Amino acid sequence: MPWVDKELCIGCGICVDECPVDAVSLVDEKAEIDQFVCVRCGKCHPICPEDAVIHDSKRIPLDVEENVERAKQGIAYYSDEENQQKSVQRWINWFTCQTKIAEQTIAQLEAMKKA
Ligand code: SF4
Ligand code: SF4
Repeated sequence: MPWVDKELCIGCGICVDECPVDAVSLVDEKAEIDQFVCVRCGKCHPICPEDAVIHDSKRIPLDVEENVERAKQGIAYYSDEENQQKSVQRWINWFTCQTKIAEQTIAQLEAMKKA
């Protein structure tokens, strides 16, 4: 999934015009990609004059940090240890489920690859 490094984006709008599914919009003169609309065609990577469209693998540490922060927010709704631990487990369950979805999706996509 591509994402935009806002430090590099100059708001030229080329990616907005070129995206075939209107997944990109300018917000405060910086491009933003709607991750739920993006179909990962990859067109926005080579056309950006500032190399501001970054591959998602570079976001992994940031995404992990955001996930942990969100989990902490949910856990903080409880003041007692028992419910805090239940909340931690719910987050673990959520990401375990996401891992299974990703694994099974990858398996089906791998099966689509030509030998
Ligand atoms: S093409 Fe690059 S610089 Fe231009 S708006 Fe898109 S991300 Fe920003
Ligand atoms: S990868 Fe394709 S669909 Fe996704 S934002 Fe870029 S141009 Fe749009």
